Amino acid sequence: MDIENKDQNQEQEQTEENGYEDVCFVCHRPESKTGKMIHLTKEICICPECMQRTMDMMSKGNVDYSKMDLSRMPNISMINLADLQNMIPKRQKVKKKAPKEQQETPKKLDIHSIPAPHKIKESLDEYVIGQEKAKKVISVAVYNHYKRVAAGAEADGIEIEKSNMLMIGPTGSGKTYLVKTLARILDVPLAIADATSLTEAGYIGDDIESVLSKLLAAADNDVEKAERGIVFIDEIDKIAKKKNTNQRDVSGESVQQGMLKLLEGAEMEVPVGANSKNAMVPLETINTRNILFICGGAFPDLTDIIKERLNKQSSIGFRADLKDKYDKEENLLRRVMVEDIRKFGMIPEFIGRLPIIFTLDALTEDMMVAVLKEPKNAILKQYQKLLQLDEVKLEFTEDALRAIARKAMEKDTGARALRAIIEDFMLDIMYEIPKDDNIGQVLITEDYIEHRGGPLITMRGVPALTMQG
Ligand code: ADP
Repeated sequence: MDIENKDQNQEQEQTEENGYEDVCFVCHRPESKTGKMIHLTKEICICPECMQRTMDMMSKGNVDYSKMDLSRMPNISMINLADLQNMIPKRQKVKKKAPKEQQETPKKLDIHSIPAPHKIKESLDEYVIGQEKAKKVISVAVYNHYKRVAAGAEADGIEIEKSNMLMIGPTGSGKTYLVKTLARILDVPLAIADATSLTEAGYIGDDIESVLSKLLAAADNDVEKAERGIVFIDEIDKIAKKKNTNQRDVSGESVQQGMLKLLEGAEMEVPVGANSKNAMVPLETINTRNILFICGGAFPDLTDIIKERLNKQSSIGFRADLKDKYDKEENLLRRVMVEDIRKFGMIPEFIGRLPIIFTLDALTEDMMVAVLKEPKNAILKQYQKLLQLDEVKLEFTEDALRAIARKAMEKDTGARALRAIIEDFMLDIMYEIPKDDNIGQVLITEDYIEHRGGPLITMRGVPALTMQG
């Protein structure tokens, strides 16, 4: 019986000790740093290093302690460990730090593990509405890119060309969203940079290498991981050649020139944690050979250039046509050709390094409705989940969704307008609903969106009634 009790006590002590570790009495370092402690008493322990040092001191000095009359020396007396026990706190322990999460070793890409283009597109479909052509092009291009990375330069000397991309589409059509989704599916680091902030090195603004600094940060400063990442440079149309200017074009053509090396693949000195190189910033070398660059922009007025070209073509010879034939054509951007982009102000060398060019369509009202409810993380689903936590069901009538989409279309900023509109009227709902525990369901109607009435509220176990809007 006694033995049983002792075992139980020991067990209890052990569980109490769990999460704590011994600290050296001399140097105060914890056991995880010093190695196994030597216990002088149950409470007092000393680390091997301090113990060794003490021993060394004693042996080197050849001190004969027995002959020392310590009572004659001021402030020195033989240490009685039993006294010490009263001086020190009962627990000479500190709480152990939670073990650091094991650093994932970057997955090596191998040709067989790269998802096939149709798989990539399937995953994109779950998030991005419409833009079928763009999703297809991007899936194939990314697949080829990572196949190229995995293959490396083979002995046969055939090197697959880099598939950097140029993505043209109106604001809010999902350019950034598409790239973000892609990087998440592929689990590669992504840096999003804005071309408008870039200037030629030495001028006020960010150096071109700063886009790689961002990528390095996104890859947790792991150069190898960063070298397989994706860089998205938005607003690329803003670095078009400035027309009719006599000044040096430090944020336009010069930036395009500066980006050539980056896009093509080169060893670049990259400032770590800063936007420009200076003496105080450490530099890291990154090879951009396997980094996928995707440039995106709205390219306003590009449609005029396309129209002009098409009109010129069709006014010659037999195919002579009406001059305003293309004025009403939707998605004229789809007909873009390299020469149009050059005319817009991008230099040929720059366009040459973005061999894959594709366009995104402006969102229609139907697409807007789909954006609201269909993507895996659709904004409506997010609100529904929030209210579900209060055990309230949130529903929208089809007419209400159309009304939101209509309002968004008026703003001309694509799907970006949706969130602002929905947040505006959901504020009242999110404020009022948690007040009353009896509310079981909220139905958002067109009348509520158009400010003609309130949403339809259903109490638990009672027929629906309208909230005063
Ligand atoms: P831009 O083309 O200007 O880069 P964004 O990609 O930033 O536009 O789009 C803004 C937001 O609109 C995204 O965060 C996303 O929620 C939504 N969105 C835009 N287009 C789509 C789409 N085709 N499918 C789903 N959501 C979209």
